[in-house]
Amino acid sequence: MSFIVINSYNNYVDAHIARGVLEEEGINCWLKDEHTVTIDPILTNAVGGIKIMVFNSQAERAWEILSALKNEQKQAIACPQCGSHNTELVSTPRKAINWISAITTFFLGDFAMTIDKVHHCFDCKHEFPPAETE
Ligand SMILES: [Zn+2]
Repeated sequence: MSFIVINSYNNYVDAHIARGVLEEEGINCWLKDEHTVTIDPILTNAVGGIKIMVFNSQAERAWEILSALKNEQKQAIACPQCGSHNTELVSTPRKAINWISAITTFFLGDFAMTIDKVHHCFDCKHEFPPAETE
């Protein structure tokens, strides 16, 4: 049996949500490069993000679950400007100062909360901040 990559994430929060959902559905999976990405977010692009690995034989089912999860997350968010659900949470490439503060905060223990993200609306190009709970 072998594992294959079925998706990748640029932060460990999303990766862990996906893994949790898959495990609930009985999918055998693990995260690759989690350590690299979490310790050094600047390397995220270099290593291609955190990869979620599943058994070959479960890949199709896992993909269906992740697609459903993504749809569900999209439906929960509407663009405040045009009401569209066609949005995606994206990491914003910011000035160095934010990476420095992100890394500093990581060592103080609350890294996930400092990632700078916005929702991008594909219909009207509006960008808006994620809700507190995300
Ligand atoms: Zn919009």
